[in-house]
Amino acid sequence: MEEIKKESLNFIEEIIENDLKRKKHTTILTRFPPEPNGYLHIGHAKSICLNFGLGLKYGGQTNLRFDDTNPAKEDIEYVNSIKEDVKWLGFEWARELYASNYFDAIYTLTLKLIKKGKAYIDESSAEQIAALKGTPTSVGKDSPFRNRPISENLALFEKMKNGDCAEGSMVLRAKIDMSSPNMILRDPVLYRIKFAHHHQTGDKWCIYPMYDYAHPISDALEEITHSICTLEFEVHRPLYDWTIAELELFPSRQIEFARLNLNYTVMSKRKLMELVKNNLVSGWDDPRMPTISGLRRRGYTPASLREFAHRIGIAKRDNVIDVSLLEFCIREDLNKNAPRMMAVLNPLKINIINWLKDRTEYVSIENNPEQSEAGHREVPFSNELWIEQDDFMENPPKKYFRLTPGGIVRLKGAYIIRCKNVIKDFEGKVVELDCEYISESRSGRDTSGLHPKGVLHWVSAKHAVEAQCRMYDRLFKVESPDAGDGAYKTHLNQDSLKTLPKIYGEPALKTAQKGDTFQFLRNGYFCVDTDSTDNQLIFNRTVTLKDAWAKLAAKG
Ligand code: ATP
Ligand code: MG
Repeated sequence: MEEIKKESLNFIEEIIENDLKRKKHTTILTRFPPEPNGYLHIGHAKSICLNFGLGLKYGGQTNLRFDDTNPAKEDIEYVNSIKEDVKWLGFEWARELYASNYFDAIYTLTLKLIKKGKAYIDESSAEQIAALKGTPTSVGKDSPFRNRPISENLALFEKMKNGDCAEGSMVLRAKIDMSSPNMILRDPVLYRIKFAHHHQTGDKWCIYPMYDYAHPISDALEEITHSICTLEFEVHRPLYDWTIAELELFPSRQIEFARLNLNYTVMSKRKLMELVKNNLVSGWDDPRMPTISGLRRRGYTPASLREFAHRIGIAKRDNVIDVSLLEFCIREDLNKNAPRMMAVLNPLKINIINWLKDRTEYVSIENNPEQSEAGHREVPFSNELWIEQDDFMENPPKKYFRLTPGGIVRLKGAYIIRCKNVIKDFEGKVVELDCEYISESRSGRDTSGLHPKGVLHWVSAKHAVEAQCRMYDRLFKVESPDAGDGAYKTHLNQDSLKTLPKIYGEPALKTAQKGDTFQFLRNGYFCVDTDSTDNQLIFNRTVTLKDAWAKLAAKG
């Protein structure tokens, strides 16, 4: 048993269990550290689920820390959206923190580093610094300022802090090793001058620590036990460890895992920002965006995103996940949980010619066959109904089991009807059908002896709720829109949004609230869009009913 349990641990869990077993830590503390320079995307959701999930699994906690060390790109709007997204995903952070909270502490620790002779002020230009850095195959050269006395370093750092030095005139660098095979250890810059207003600290600071330096200090000050980040930080880990060791801080440990990549989309905040700024989408929460807010508006549930994160697991190598797995997860959730409704997206009117004009009969239809306790609802049936245009063909191919001239179909939960007459406009387009209902064929007490092969959804015209419907498809036409430089904008799918101006839904949809999700029978999963008003109901198609993934999953 022990053996099996061990095998099911991922490599991060193994590290954690090992640390707990050998009493390196008695409990764990993780953190989710977004930079507030955009909205979160599904990749961040993966990281959130991982960090908060580990906190919960091991009875520890998770901090939400805004890595706000770069004032120029950050904004409070992003801070708020990030908090909303994390909460919506179902997680609670232990503390809400800002790397900028640590500016004082980082400054004080830096004085200690300078006094130890482990950092120096370099007045070389950025170009000079780069030129002396060397290449991966040739060692770097010392800066002429590398060996200036500690007292001079302290005095200049003080001047930098006081705003007495121009932007770009000098930086503080760590004194590590200009010949290290790891370029990152060739005296990395720790602090730079930036006369920028910061959304948390205002104009208090004009020097800002670099991410690589602020991050380990922030982790250690919070006593983060396991600091999980994506693979590209693997080469930064020696600097992370150096910083903690030189400053003699809490032994936070950095662990890297593969970032999530999805096909048919782009996922860096910078590119998503460009889509927004260039009005190529309606905003960060456009339902076609891979942002958490976009997915939420599209009709994705928190449980479906958590399930997705769980299914893709933790990898040590970069890979690309098929977006159909994401679609599979929401489909599975909504199949279990979304109430069923009938709605006609491309309406064709049918007249039941042998039904009395003013008569309404209510038929009972299951709310959700996946949940016996969901019960039934009463749906009105009358002499004028809507069905889908696709559900009628005048000259049908073989195996077309829907309505045809003279043919019969069952209307879901109600009666069998027979098409008696096809009414066309002057162009020959079918505009209405006259049909007859078979009175002894009502569902549940059918004695007609007829066995139509097709069952259609329908809506009573005079009881129908009108709505608009937004049919979404993938935002990009190609699997890897990111391949090639900046080419992704040329791969946009121009048909990714099709609006159906008037669809008809059954009356129960009248009370639908923003965010409510439904399965429209035979049509897919839909949710009420946030643009809806009292006068205009708007649905988003979340996902279609079927996909190839369904087959794979069924196989196990
Ligand atoms: P982007 O490049 O999309 O802007 P980022 O890494 O710069 O992403 P941050 O705000 O710095 O964004 O990320 C916060 C956390 O989310 C980090 O720990 C980061 O490693 C993680 N993260 C970001 N993108 C992904 C992804 N695609 N898959 C998994 N984790 C991710
Ligand atoms: Mg980042």
